Amino acid sequence: MLRGGLIGCGFFAMNQLHGWREASRARIVAICDRDPARLAEAGDTFGIAARYDDAARMLAEEDLDFVDIATTVGSHRALVELAADRGLHVICQKPLASSMDDARAMVAAVAAAGRTFMVHENFRWQSPIRAAIEAVRGGAIGTPFFARASFRSGYDVFSGQPYLATDERFIVQDLGIHVLDIARALMGDAVRITATMQRVNPAIRGEDVATMLLVHDGGATSVVDCSYATRRQPETFPETLLEVDGEAGTLRLDAGYRLTVQTAEGSETRDVTPRLADWAERPWFNIQESVASIQQHFVDCIEAGRAPETSGADNLSTLALVEAAYLSAAEGRSVDVSEV
Ligand code: NAD
Repeated sequence: MLRGGLIGCGFFAMNQLHGWREASRARIVAICDRDPARLAEAGDTFGIAARYDDAARMLAEEDLDFVDIATTVGSHRALVELAADRGLHVICQKPLASSMDDARAMVAAVAAAGRTFMVHENFRWQSPIRAAIEAVRGGAIGTPFFARASFRSGYDVFSGQPYLATDERFIVQDLGIHVLDIARALMGDAVRITATMQRVNPAIRGEDVATMLLVHDGGATSVVDCSYATRRQPETFPETLLEVDGEAGTLRLDAGYRLTVQTAEGSETRDVTPRLADWAERPWFNIQESVASIQQHFVDCIEAGRAPETSGADNLSTLALVEAAYLSAAEGRSVDVSEV
């Protein structure tokens, strides 16, 4: 049984604590938060007695195998380096860092400690997205040459996560990062990106609309479009919709979790609605299910001694797309990902 310590008991960490309860061969034995109210609420809800207001002290006093870092981005580097110093495996929330230098230093620190480092990049672990990725990777539509990954919504994300309204960067750093990662999972690494960004909602600081054009290794194209300014019915939050064209067919993941594959042999539509865990709720249940899945993948990889699919090193390529997208939008030009 792997013993974990969770750092950050905020909004999203509740899902992580539920997910850890479901995990095989791992559990959270200690928690940490600087906010006493959040620490008490998480500890009481999940029956965890070992509670700390300081991460260094938790790591010094507890016998841990891994840490799960669920704080916001500003604290990630220091906490990852602290865990690496103590020789622990690490899973850290996205966005991993707010600069490529920080992200690279974090990957190097955990690698030097010889431990497993995974980013909690969970959208590609949503079971409907996973079904699409597996169909494409399994050759169901032949070699893909075009993809569109689209997340458009008018949902109020600011009440649960107030920092999203006040941070300088919003939709690409927070949400686009996941959708860019899905594009990579479907189409492979991207080498070039062109992005436009808009702020439609005047009450927030950052951009709430982004449209990005990616050129992948080998020449395939994808469009990643994200909006939190789209009022439509039915509201599809928080579904990512997909279209992939391949040399032998097409795949679509439509609203309502309907996955369609069309080839010369015909058309097949499957219902790929995620499992509604007993702790989960609509409309978030696709994300909640993915939290449990990614955490189990982390445990399986530690035990098998293999790199997770969404390892820290892998995530550098997703983070580079985020940085390149902001550079592209700021300078009004196409950006080679190697520039960042
Ligand atoms: P939050 O502000 O609600 O929670 C963060 C908590 O961390 C707070 O309680 C804060 O007191 C605590 N904290 C901060 N620094 C600390 C430190 N050094 N030591 C101890 N405690 C510390 O934030 P949130 O909305 O839960 O987001 C947390 C992270 O999760 C962010 O990086 C966010 O992008 C990510 N997130 C991911 C998803 C997803 O689907 N993967 C969804 C929502 C949020």
